[in-house]
This record gives sequence, C-alpha cells and structure tokens, in this order.
Amino acid sequence: MKAKFALRAITQATCPCAMAALLAATLAVLIDLFLRFSDYRALLHVLPAAGTVEFSGALTLVFLQVVALFYLILLLPRILRTGVLLLCAFVVVVQFSYWLTLSQFMTATDLFLGISVGGDHRTEAVSSFFQPLVFLYALPCVLVLSALIPVPPVSNFRKALALSLLPALFLLASNYALFLHVPERSFHLNPLTSFLRSTLHHEFENLRKYRGPRDDLPAFQASQRPLDSIIYVIDESVRGSNLSLNGYPRATTPFLQSLEAGGLLKNLGICVAAGTFSYISNAYLITGHNAFPDDGFRTARNPTVFDYAKKMGYETIYIDIDHGYLSTLVKAAGDGPVRSLDRWMTDRSFEERHVDLEATKDLGIARFISRLLNERGGYFVVVNKKGLHFHYRNRYPDDEASAAWKPVMKASDPIDPGAAGREKLVNTYDNGIRFQVDEFFRVFVSETTNRNYVMLYTSDHGQTLAEQGQVYTHMKPDEGIVDVPGFLVSGERYGRKGLLAGIPYGIRVSHLNNFATLLDLMGVPLSLRVRPYDKSIFSLTAGDNRARTYMSGSLHGSGDYVVKTIPTPPAAGWGVSRPVRSGPEAP
Ligand SMILES: [Zn+2]
Repeated sequence: MKAKFALRAITQATCPCAMAALLAATLAVLIDLFLRFSDYRALLHVLPAAGTVEFSGALTLVFLQVVALFYLILLLPRILRTGVLLLCAFVVVVQFSYWLTLSQFMTATDLFLGISVGGDHRTEAVSSFFQPLVFLYALPCVLVLSALIPVPPVSNFRKALALSLLPALFLLASNYALFLHVPERSFHLNPLTSFLRSTLHHEFENLRKYRGPRDDLPAFQASQRPLDSIIYVIDESVRGSNLSLNGYPRATTPFLQSLEAGGLLKNLGICVAAGTFSYISNAYLITGHNAFPDDGFRTARNPTVFDYAKKMGYETIYIDIDHGYLSTLVKAAGDGPVRSLDRWMTDRSFEERHVDLEATKDLGIARFISRLLNERGGYFVVVNKKGLHFHYRNRYPDDEASAAWKPVMKASDPIDPGAAGREKLVNTYDNGIRFQVDEFFRVFVSETTNRNYVMLYTSDHGQTLAEQGQVYTHMKPDEGIVDVPGFLVSGERYGRKGLLAGIPYGIRVSHLNNFATLLDLMGVPLSLRVRPYDKSIFSLTAGDNRARTYMSGSLHGSGDYVVKTIPTPPAAGWGVSRPVRSGPEAP
C-alpha cells in the first residue's frame, strides 16, 4: 500500500517535470537548428561515414541529454533553480560569443586554456570575441530557459534527489561515450549541453594525464661554467611574413636587416610553428617532442631544454611574461622548484626587484638580459615574450614616432575584416612588429657589452590578420597561422661562430628543428641525447622537411585535434603578407 502511494507520488511529480523538460528541450533544439542552420547542414556530411544507425543514435543521445539537463534543473527548488538558470543564461551568451567568432561552441581545449592562461590574455580574448549581436542569438534560448521557472517543483527533497540520480548518471555515461567515440566538434544541439560536454571532456582527459616525473638524463659532469650565453626567445603572435627581414614591403625590421648585413644575423626564413596556439607550440619547443598529436604524453615525460642546459653547466633562467605553457607546469609543481631551473621570473619577480618593465614589457626584458650578460657569461635563458598578442594597439607606446603606419585601431576595437578594418588591423600590427620585435633587438644588441652570446628567435605562432575574413587571430588550424620567423643573432665575440657559418643553404625549418639546434649550441654530446629529436639546423639539408607538420586542438589527441602539413612548395600565398590599402588610391 505504502509502495503504491510512493509510486503514485513519484509519477505525479515526475510527469509535469518530465513533460516540461521534453517540451522545452524540443523547443530549444528547434531554435538551435534555426539559428545555426549551417552547422546542422555540415553535420550531414558525417552521415555517410558514420552510417544511419550510429548517426541517429548519436543524435538521439544528445537530444536526450538536453531533456535530462532540463529535467535536472526542474527538480531544483524554485530559488535555486532561478539561480542556476541565470548561470545558464550566462553560459549561453559565452557559447554564442564563441560560435560567432570561431563558428563553434567552446571545446575542452578552450576551457582548459580559459582556466590555465594568464589573466590579461583572458580579458583580451573575451574583448576581442565580444560582439553585441550575441544577445540577439542568446535571447530565444534564454526565453525557453525562463519558461522553466514557473513549472511546479517536486516538494519532497529526498524524492527530488532520488529522481535526479538516473538523469545525472545518464549525462555522465553518455558524455563518456561521446568522449570515446564522437569527435568533439560534432553533434551539438544546445549551447548548455555542449558546455557540459566540454567540461566533462576536460575532466575525462585529466584522468588519463601523465603525472610522473620527467625522464632523467645520463650522468654527466660539465667541467666548468661555459663562457658563452644562449638566449632562446619565443615571441608571441609574430607572423614571419610581416618582417621586412623576410621580404615584407614595409620596413618593419630595419635593425634586424642591418644585423644581417653586418653578418650578425642568420635568417632561417619563414618557419613552420608546431601549433596554432601558445600551449602546443611551447610544449614542443621546450621538450623537443616531434610527433603529432602527443598521445604518449612525451611533452610531459621528455627532459626539458633546461635539463640539458643545466647538465652542460649553464645557469638556467626562465622569463615568463606570456604565461602560455610553462607557468602551468610551474603551478603544478606547487611551491617546489622546477627541475633544472635556477630562476623562474614572471612580471611579479621584476616588480619585486623594482625593475620597471614598462607597459609593453619586452624592451624592459631586453635591458634585463643585457645587464645579466654584462655581469658574466654562462647563462641559458628562455624568454616567453609579450610580443603581439591581440589587442595590438597595447603593444607599442602612444607617441608619434612609434606609429609609422596609419590609420590604426583603437585599443578596444574588435577585429573588423572589412577592407577599412583590415587596413587598420595590419597597420597596428606592423607598428607593433617594429616596436616589439625590431626595437627589442636594437635595445638588446646595443646595450650588451659582453658579446659572447647567441640568440635563437622564433614565435609561438603567427596571426591570420583577417586575410580570409577571420575574426579570430589564431587557435584554429588555418595554414597562415603557423607562418613564424626564425633566425639566430650572435654577438661579435660569440665563441661558436664556426657553427653558425656552416648553416646549409636552402633549408626549410620548423619548430621541431629548434630543440636539437639548442643542444648543438650547448655542445651536448650525442651520448646525452635521450630522444630521437628532429635534426638541428646545422645538419638539415635542402632535401629535408619536404612537408612540415603542425597541429591544433587537443595536444594529447583526445577530442578534436587536427594535424596538418605545409608542403613543399607551399600553397600559393603561404608565407606571404601584404599591407592593406582601402582608400581610392589603392593600386
Ligand atoms: Zn601565443
């Protein structure tokens, strides 16, 4: 009798909530279909490969996820439900912001980067993404959500809890199934369930992360502290083809060209970055891993470039102004030291030393390294520069001399891919290159009196500069994004000049060649090298690197990663950039 009563109570409570959830879910999915019609049409391309059964199975699964999520929300007491719905409205706005900018909802990688990257990158990313149009897209979805407020709640808390178990379990299990079998960017019917899916995807990915120590290097004792210093500069968002050093028609890097003319710069031409955003590129650059994606967690297991430098007797310093990759490793190390790193310096370390890096940071870093070298040799320094992360207008000072090309964007302007917008975008970017790249070297070279040094320079990735109408700067797998500079600058007293003189002509360089290049510069014996690294630039030949590989998306190959190559010869237009003239005098 009691059981019968309980069953009736449950069905009575279940039905209105379940019916409301089903109705709201159907409505929400129809709205989504209407708003993002092109995505749904593109989804149909998956059909022939997946087969009808699997395709409709996945579709049903994600539809039921929307129902389950709405049902769970309805089980909440009204006040709590209103709070959760407000949070949901916020997520919907964020999701549509992503979609309007990148034509996709957030992925687990976006989420991971959102959590791990530095604070100002986050604000800058949000402000470059944000468009008021998003509210128009979010509105219908928010209206459906608000219709859930008046539905009568389940009065008994324990009953509500019991009813929530099955849908919660379904959401967890179905998302795990999607994690294992369905590419992360397909089958999104709703911004909220998509967000939940990315969050869980990120958690599932975390579970299988490698947490052990890095591999050790064989025993070796350097006889003494080296006399030379090696500086590895990893710039931020610098596109190789916008340097006049690489043939760009505007004089963005006159100082670098004068170094080249004087025999102090070896240009490696346009190089191919390992990834289309900082995290991936840095992971490969610091650990020398050379296969894509990193499904064996080699970027977490390989010894770092610091391990080798330390073994060879260098004092190791890491200057991290960009917080793109290693800072997350340092965070993971807690308060303990990072292996083989003598000093890890961030903006705060400079503040504590009362070193003013000024607004654009990079020139302050150049001066700091100069002072360091002028005291003594034997340093190995890695710098993650501030470079040219969007907004570009914040990357050079406000004076007339720094604005060689006009008109420029305002610091708060979002990217406008129209002709006039592109003209400003490229002008602002070029002014930034002249200041953050060319001036950086001018300050460093002219202020360094201890000239037994070599500097290897590249950028983590390039920029789209809205050439194909993109409103994003990087992150997506576009070929143009991996166009980065690569060159070596040496001081007049550099001890291994002979090595630089032997760089073969006509080589094609990728980020993957940088690791062994550094080992060669340090003089690391072959017996110490524990991984099969890609060739250094000193042993590359014109026949190597016929295809240069890079990746985008999830570093460890779960979910949505993309591996692509830049062939030889590259597609027309790759590695070439041009200023934009939108006015009537345009040629
Ligand atoms: Zn970057």
